[in-house]
Amino acid sequence: MWRGMTDKPRSHGRLKARPTLTPRSLMEAPERPGSWVARIITLFPGAFPGVLGESLTGRALDEGKWRLEPIDLRPFGEGRHRNVDDTPAGGGAGMVLRADVVARALDVAAQGVPPDRARWPVVYLSPRGRRFDQATARRWAGAEGITMLCGRFEGVDERVLEDYGIEEVSLGDFVLTGGEIAAQAMIDATVRLLPGVLGNAASTEEESHSTGLLEHPQYTRPATWRGREIPPVLLSGNHGEIEKWRRAEAERLTRDRRPDLWTRFRDED
Ligand code: SAH
Repeated sequence: MWRGMTDKPRSHGRLKARPTLTPRSLMEAPERPGSWVARIITLFPGAFPGVLGESLTGRALDEGKWRLEPIDLRPFGEGRHRNVDDTPAGGGAGMVLRADVVARALDVAAQGVPPDRARWPVVYLSPRGRRFDQATARRWAGAEGITMLCGRFEGVDERVLEDYGIEEVSLGDFVLTGGEIAAQAMIDATVRLLPGVLGNAASTEEESHSTGLLEHPQYTRPATWRGREIPPVLLSGNHGEIEKWRRAEAERLTRDRRPDLWTRFRDED
């Protein structure tokens, strides 16, 4: 039986931000049925909640609107030293996370969650994956929760990805040291779409990557700063004109900065 999965359980002052997770606790009925859950398999459970503990996502975590369940990979390791990795078959630099070790963690993460991947995606953060985007965040926010596997070193033995039918998802076309930052970025993008997390739901409908256009520029006080004025139309009180201006600016920015998005937007419009 696993007991504490880290030597020093750390409290983040959050409702469910526990770096330790025992099979027993996973079998218990959720404290807040219905709240979205992120189960994160990681060698660095202390990296969570990280920035997710701040601001809107942190408050929502405190309020139980979503839950974070880091699962420390280390206790699933082999032998006295709980080894989780070994050298790559065929040679080469670095280390690879072992399939058997990762599988044991995945089995614990699967306890009490629906096997239907539409209801509960199981993903590996990976630079080889499909690129994460707003549509993926929306899909995940519509699920009951997600299991994320954070890699380290050279990555994970391919066989465990195949055997568990794991979806690979990338934060972008660059290589990170580990999956934890990618996991936090994707959880942030997903959690802010959950009902009641952002105070103003309309703000997720009009922002960049929701409408197909990048967002228009934003301004606030002071009205003049270093000789720069706020565009007068925004101070006119004429909402029709303001909408027209914002729309034109959104189109201009999208055309200039992201011809790929602009083409798609025009084709769909
Ligand atoms: N050798 C691998 C990279 C390993 S990087 C390759 O060339 O594809 C170590 C870990 O960091 C990966 O296992 C993955 O979990 C994470 N990672 C690195 N870049 C990432 C990215 N762009 N998106 C998501 N996860 C990433």
